[in-house]
Amino acid sequence: MTKIALVTGGTRGIGGAISIALKNQGCKVAATYNSNSEKADAFAKEHGIDVFQWNVADANACEAGVKEVAEKLGSIDILINNAGISKAAMSHKMTIEQWDDVIRTDLDSVFYMTRCVLEGMREKAFGRIISISSINGQKGEMGLVNYSAAKAGVLGFTKALAQETARKNITVNAIAPGYIDTEILADASEDFLKGLITKIPVGRLGTVEEISRIVTFLASDDAGFVTGSTITANGGQYFI
Ligand code: NDP
Repeated sequence: MTKIALVTGGTRGIGGAISIALKNQGCKVAATYNSNSEKADAFAKEHGIDVFQWNVADANACEAGVKEVAEKLGSIDILINNAGISKAAMSHKMTIEQWDDVIRTDLDSVFYMTRCVLEGMREKAFGRIISISSINGQKGEMGLVNYSAAKAGVLGFTKALAQETARKNITVNAIAPGYIDTEILADASEDFLKGLITKIPVGRLGTVEEISRIVTFLASDDAGFVTGSTITANGGQYFI
């Protein structure tokens, strides 16, 4: 049976690659975005993937959005919590707004989205929930206490939820990418990027496809015994 997949932030970057990969695996895919409708419309046209707009940091918007997707495509079998932002500042200079924006978008959203799909997955006795964490949720990064806390929170969420849903054949996993070549790094200075690459043993940034291939594995029937796990993909930059 055709599986329905929802990818938050699925219209560009890592999420874009995930949407395309899941479509290529035969899924019907809903890709969401926040505000960049130009990019989203171009993505929809190029790849024949349905796009939907809402703010994942808003619990009510998530409920309404998931309902809209389910009405159009069917109830969701595979949820990819990918949408995320980063707002850097040293802690002594970080504003409450910078803290809240990142925690809401990168952590609260994972719960807001997941709670909307759990009942449907429980009824079908099948589900795949995959959240994109980060190397910085594992090792922490200076200037990113908000992001590091949110991404570490995703790992705890994953381990706890996996225990709750295992009996219903719903697996819950996280991926912790290292530095991947996407627009999220657009604000990084050339010096930062040069220094960064010297710290990555494979000597390069990762590609979006290197993350999307992990997602297609975790979403497949082959991964039914993998739950509560974090798969790291960071070019050897950090081992836990
Ligand atoms: P991009 O900045 O390239 O894309 C982010 C996507 O998320 C966009 O589709 C964006 O929508 C969407 N988004 C952002 N905020 C919201 C929101 N409030 N509501 C709904 N959608 C939203 O990010 P990446 O592809 O680089 O990153 C994807 C995920 O991977 C993130 O969670 C990130 O933290 C994580 N990650 C990235 C790494 C990297 O090096 N790139 C490393 C480790 C983890 P719109 O287009 O409308 O702005």
